[in-house]
Amino acid sequence: MIHKALIGIGSNLDLPAENCLKAISILSKSKEVRVASQSSLYESEPIGNPDQPWFVNAAVEIQTNLNPEELLQYLLNIENQLGRIRKEKWGPRIIDLDILDYEGQIINSSTLTLPHPEMAQRRFVLEPLSEIAGATIHPLKNKTIADLLKEQPNFPIVKKYSPHK
Ligand code: ADP
Ligand code: MG
Repeated sequence: MIHKALIGIGSNLDLPAENCLKAISILSKSKEVRVASQSSLYESEPIGNPDQPWFVNAAVEIQTNLNPEELLQYLLNIENQLGRIRKEKWGPRIIDLDILDYEGQIINSSTLTLPHPEMAQRRFVLEPLSEIAGATIHPLKNKTIADLLKEQPNFPIVKKYSPHK
């Protein structure tokens, strides 16, 4: 069975844009996953600990035959492959791959929470996601991604990524 999932991607270490694109490239070459659509890259002001570099964020829609837990393990493997070392929760990271939504499933296990608990109040997630899945309904809020984005404050800043800065 082919399932549809939405993945959030972020990086703020080394070369964040390249790291995000590398992760998307790994996904698109894999035999477990097909990348169906891909957002633009955005740059966003760090939240939590402000004393760290800005993030680059993106979102992709994938098709996969992995179940949600298998998909999570698969994404954590890619994070490790790209050299992520886990330190503090809100700290800088070389790559972060989150499952935002898996066909509207609601899951609360020790390893996986779906939909992703922070997505509805994070502009840096909703902005790229609305490009590729604006009409998708958030299964707990019963609102579209586009509508959730409209409710977000303007700060912290999220803007289209431009390489020359
Ligand atoms: P965060 O993304 O919240 O900054 P991490 O990337 O360090 O944190 O992830 C920590 C753990 O979050 C993962 O090991 C995973 O088990 C768990 N997790 C729970 N729900 C999700 C989800 N929807 N997508 C990705 N990871 C999740
Ligand atoms: Mg994560």
